[in-house]
Amino acid sequence: MEKFITDKIQDEAIKDLGELVGIASYNGPAEPKAPFGKGPKAALDKAMELATNLGFKTHEDPDGYYGYADIGEGKETFGIVGHLDEVPAGNIDDWTVDPYKLTIKDDKLFGRGTQDDKGPTIAAIYAIKAILDKGYKFNKKIRVIFGTDEEILWRCLAEYNKKEDPIDLGIAPDAEFPLIYAEKGLQQSYLTGPGSTELNLDLENAFNAVPGKAVYNGPKQAEVLAALKKYDFAADQKDGEIEVHGKSVHAMNAPEGTNAVVRLAMALADVFPDIKVLQFLRAFGEDANATNLLGDVSDEVSGKLTFNISSLKITPEESRMQIDMRIPVKIDHDQLIKQVSDAVGKYGMKYENFDYVAPLYVPTDSELVKTLMQTYQDLTGDTESKPAISGGATFARTMHNCVAFGGMLPTTPDFMHQANENWSKADMLKAMEIFAEAIYRLCV
Ligand SMILES: [Zn+2]
Repeated sequence: MEKFITDKIQDEAIKDLGELVGIASYNGPAEPKAPFGKGPKAALDKAMELATNLGFKTHEDPDGYYGYADIGEGKETFGIVGHLDEVPAGNIDDWTVDPYKLTIKDDKLFGRGTQDDKGPTIAAIYAIKAILDKGYKFNKKIRVIFGTDEEILWRCLAEYNKKEDPIDLGIAPDAEFPLIYAEKGLQQSYLTGPGSTELNLDLENAFNAVPGKAVYNGPKQAEVLAALKKYDFAADQKDGEIEVHGKSVHAMNAPEGTNAVVRLAMALADVFPDIKVLQFLRAFGEDANATNLLGDVSDEVSGKLTFNISSLKITPEESRMQIDMRIPVKIDHDQLIKQVSDAVGKYGMKYENFDYVAPLYVPTDSELVKTLMQTYQDLTGDTESKPAISGGATFARTMHNCVAFGGMLPTTPDFMHQANENWSKADMLKAMEIFAEAIYRLCV
């Protein structure tokens, strides 16, 4: 195999990475032509400048949502989808270096965005440059797409898909090697039903986490406590409040958590038998695969449906819950929604859509996955790591025939979204070599 990445190439990549790390690019108030604020826009402008200097033909969306850099010619387009926005530094006292100045210490590159996702994006661009430096020509158009709203709502790529032609195949270097070829569909919704004057509840939580506690300060506390005890649910009572204890995990792993809201609701259902939503929750039970409600919903590729109920509100006017479903890639979405609607209808409740993100699925016997896996194995000798499925979400699913590929090695410590975010020079070099070889095999 040819060696594409020289010290000089990596040093140049690190210099450009430093320019991007120097721009704090977390989400801020919208401004004209900067829908996600000054920071993401400034990082986008800088990336356009850097790519232009490397010989790419760049285009920045006139409304400031995204940009891209093209090189090479061909019928097909190979996309590399990264992002330039980042999460804020958080508590600055937790950092030993300036998060917005690239600092090299112990052969590690410190700074916000070095792992997520400025580092891998720059690594991929310089992998392309390394192939060109060797005198090769591409047989496809290669397009590096820069998102600026990955950490919030992905509005950048929604806009891209409205305005631009789809890619034919591609990678999103925003996760871990070897690759993620399947990501479950993500459906967030409300279930609503009749209200009640007997009981007022307001248990608010984020959609995407299993609630780890639920506080009850309503009537009939002794009965509620007895019911919790009957079910053997951990809870304690003080100052006129009952606190039910659960275990919070990310919604994509809901079956591994303990849902305190559902536990409280099951106990309340014994004490307030006339409230429909509570009857529903008792029937649903502690089953975050929703088997009681829907039967077995699973496929051989991505496993079981997960179904997280994260909030419960009861007012005289209505009852309302938030749900987060991670849907196996081969399950028909519309049919599943109809099944949920019918099932909750039996309790006088209605299904209401909030947000849906379609699944990612590129079969493991496709040319793309086979080539990327082979490249990864050839360059690392790691034949143990398998193509992965995930309940989470990367930009790969916004594009046609696209998988998440790198930039972190399985052995790279994960500093994404954390203080002292850093990427070792050695791991960056390995990622660049893998990217270069993969692009060479797919596009030369
Ligand atoms: Zn990211």
